[in-house]
Amino acid sequence: MNLSYWEERHYFEDNDLVVIGAGIVGLSTAIAAKVAKPSMKILVLERSSLPTGASTKNAGFACFGSVTELVSDSDHMTYEEQVALIQMRWEGLELLQSNVSKAELSYKGRGGIEVLDPEDDIQMSALDQINRYNRMVVDAIGKQECFSIIDQTLSSSFYRQAIYNQYEGELNPMNMMTALYKKAVNMGINLLYGQEVKSIESGALQLANKLVKAPIIAICTNGLSKSLLPKLPLQAVRNQVYITEVIQDNPLQSCYHYDQGYIYFREIDGRILIGGARNLYHQQETTSEFGQTDNLKEYLQSFVEEKILCRKTQFEYQWSGILGVGESKAPIIKEVQEGIFVGVRLGGMGIAIGSGVGKKLSEMIVATNY
Ligand SMILES: Cc1cc2nc3c(=O)[nH]c(=O)nc-3n(C[C@H](O)[C@H](O)[C@H](O)COP(=O)(O)OP(=O)(O)OC[C@H]3O[C@@H](n4cnc5c(N)ncnc54)[C@H](O)[C@@H]3O)c2cc1C
Repeated sequence: MNLSYWEERHYFEDNDLVVIGAGIVGLSTAIAAKVAKPSMKILVLERSSLPTGASTKNAGFACFGSVTELVSDSDHMTYEEQVALIQMRWEGLELLQSNVSKAELSYKGRGGIEVLDPEDDIQMSALDQINRYNRMVVDAIGKQECFSIIDQTLSSSFYRQAIYNQYEGELNPMNMMTALYKKAVNMGINLLYGQEVKSIESGALQLANKLVKAPIIAICTNGLSKSLLPKLPLQAVRNQVYITEVIQDNPLQSCYHYDQGYIYFREIDGRILIGGARNLYHQQETTSEFGQTDNLKEYLQSFVEEKILCRKTQFEYQWSGILGVGESKAPIIKEVQEGIFVGVRLGGMGIAIGSGVGKKLSEMIVATNY
């Protein structure tokens, strides 16, 4: 790097905290640390010219669990753990809205619908469990009658009944990240894009051709963390997303989940966004490589044509994002080595829990005597 005296001083000297990754967690961590300790000098390093993991690639569901997802979680989580997870998701969404206004997020609280395949006994059994999960939501966040049964709202015969969640919302992920970026800059946080961190050690990190001193490092690289911390119990998985042409008489009214949320679709600007299905192509989608595949694309296209629209359509936009998952649904928020902190493994819930993960990480950082 050919840095002037001013550039060197501005970006690289005397930093108290260097955050790696400018996704929702990286920016939330930097913002929360600066709020807690305004004198902190903070630098955020992002490897790409745009944030390139999941925070601007996701589907924009501000959600805290469909009933079939909660039923499936109950196989490996206690009631109390599930309550705590709903709480974390709800409080994270509230925290996000305290950082960034609903208008900036383009937030719409249109509710969410989980559609159930009448041929699938496990999915249909969710209908009998609504009361249990309504109680769970009350125990978690005090909101009554979260889930209710509604009759089918699509013209196809794909489903007869569905579960409506009145508290679910949707937002524009790019607007969310732009607002967080502006907030960080306005607070005096420095951000540098196009700077990939190659390795870290206590007190320093290595860029392509520069060693940067960093008394405290926060790793917020989620599904892409393995290159920096190979031993983290975290798996990178890909999610592909597609958007159709503008649909005349679009039957979708808000956002929809199917099959534990593995498939998700929503109305966006008169089009249909659909994504997911990674569980059906498990091996293929367990990767940190971006990209689309014909098999998954064809599956999602048939889903839209046969189950939602009952006619042909075309995809006009397509992309993928990488998320970090693990055996546990809980994120990893901890100090892994002296002065090196991580906030990763947000699964498919990063919009909901990202702000909270950043806040918790910042509290651990600020509490250290750097
Ligand atoms: C297609 C898709 C749909 C999703 N839909 C939803 C949804 O509807 N609702 C929801 O709540 N969640 C959803 N998620 C999950 C959510 O988007 C993520 O959990 C969340 O964005 C994770 O944020 P993050 O900041 O931890 O990671 P990321 O957004 O992945 O940010 C990490 C950043 O670190 C950078 N980075 C990586 N390595 C380095 C390095 N060595 N040096 C410098 N920078 C580096 C990356 O470029 C990236 O910008 C979805 C995810 C995907 C992929």
